Amino acid sequence: MPDYDAIVVGAGNAGSAAAITMASKGLNVLLVDRADPPGAKNLSGGVLWGNDLSQILPKWQSEAPLERFIDNKKIGFLTEKSSITIDFKTKYFDENKVGHTVLRAKFDPWMAKKAKEAGALVIPGITVDSLAIKDRTVIGVQESGDTITANMVLLAEGVNPRLSIEAGLRKPLQDRELSVGVKEIIKLSPQKIEDRFNLSEGSGMASEYILGNLGELNIGAFFYTNKDSISLGIVSPMEELRKNGVTHTYDLIEMFKEHPSIAPLIEGGTVAEYGAHLIPEGGIESVPQLYGNGYMILGDAAGFAFSNGLVLQGMNYAILSGIMAGETAVRAKSMNDYSAKSLSEYEKKLNNTYVLKDLKTFKDIRKVTGNPKMYTVYPQLLEGILLETLWERGQPKKKVRDILSEAAGKMNMSKVKTLTDFYNIYRRM
Ligand SMILES: Cc1cc2nc3c(=O)[nH]c(=O)nc-3n(C[C@H](O)[C@H](O)[C@H](O)COP(=O)(O)OP(=O)(O)OC[C@H]3O[C@@H](n4cnc5c(N)ncnc54)[C@H](O)[C@@H]3O)c2cc1C
Repeated sequence: MPDYDAIVVGAGNAGSAAAITMASKGLNVLLVDRADPPGAKNLSGGVLWGNDLSQILPKWQSEAPLERFIDNKKIGFLTEKSSITIDFKTKYFDENKVGHTVLRAKFDPWMAKKAKEAGALVIPGITVDSLAIKDRTVIGVQESGDTITANMVLLAEGVNPRLSIEAGLRKPLQDRELSVGVKEIIKLSPQKIEDRFNLSEGSGMASEYILGNLGELNIGAFFYTNKDSISLGIVSPMEELRKNGVTHTYDLIEMFKEHPSIAPLIEGGTVAEYGAHLIPEGGIESVPQLYGNGYMILGDAAGFAFSNGLVLQGMNYAILSGIMAGETAVRAKSMNDYSAKSLSEYEKKLNNTYVLKDLKTFKDIRKVTGNPKMYTVYPQLLEGILLETLWERGQPKKKVRDILSEAAGKMNMSKVKTLTDFYNIYRRM
């Protein structure tokens, strides 16, 4: 008889969500994480859209260590001298309060604690060395020479899924499937944050930018308010960094911080923490076989994250995939069947959620986000149009049509290529 019904490797969002789902239905669950406290080394931007959490932790909005709820979202472009943003403030966010900034070093240990309260055995500080496999079935995990057995192993090991790769359950990741995120947390008093960003107590702002001020580099940036700090950082495809020989991603975050529209927002703040982390951005093509005899793969380990250059989400995908895997495990236990056929229910469930639907819908998003003109020509074009329209220089005014064609001419933009780009944005975004 195996030691556990299920072993979950990784107490990030995916692993804890799966452990809570299974343990609350009476399964005998072991949740292990290499960090102590569990998840303490994890990193995200991070705005958590918590709709799915309500399924397993209905009181999360009052109990979780949340920073600020997002009632103001900005998206935009930065050029060397300008910032062009859409500033979206809405009562809808305010009334529902589902988007919150979180700091993972606090949030993940809380979720792991909830898994423990649901009945899971949570052991932090354990790095699983490998999977135990017999007759092409995953039968447990190996740690420090011991084999711990289970009917099912749920692999929620994050973006760098060493165990799944070494066991041949998924292919090694290529540069094109990954982005690098670099982040800083800058301390500022709550009063300063509320004054600077026009926020009330508890409310927050989240902005995402396309950086058009870094030449050919294809880079996005984020800037989020926490209770008494700012989370900011940059995200760039690994392929892009290697192609351009960028090894010091830290310099890029400095350039973002020095931008004339960002520097005043963090003035007087002190850097409390910084870190870097990979992000899965390979889309549907990088999703592996999600289940097999005795195992399922969830969260970042399965490539479940969504990015379109202006939105980056992974925590909600991780949580929902954890819940779906957990429910599949509960069903498998009720049938006493842990075969690939039984666990294929996991993929069927995911197919009915935004997790796989989004990855399929946006399968060609790289044609937009990977287009260098999104980071060079278009921000400059927008800036040019706004300067012509809004900057009174004692010159005769021009029609938008003329402004556009002059700006396009200055930037050597061919009509066909520009129309193709807009067609791609229209079709893929
Ligand atoms: C810079 C940046 C910004 C981001 N911003 C956002 C955002 O604003 N909103 C959003 O929704 N998402 C964001 N994301 C994405 C989000 O952080 C991830 O998608 C999410 O954390 C995935 O959760 P997970 O549980 O799958 O993996 P993780 O959270 O990475 O958890 C994996 C866990 O597995 C453990 N582990 C790994 N290997 C082993 C082993 N062998 N033995 C034991 N334990 C192991 C690790 O310690 C870790 O705790 C961002 C990511 C980055 C890097």
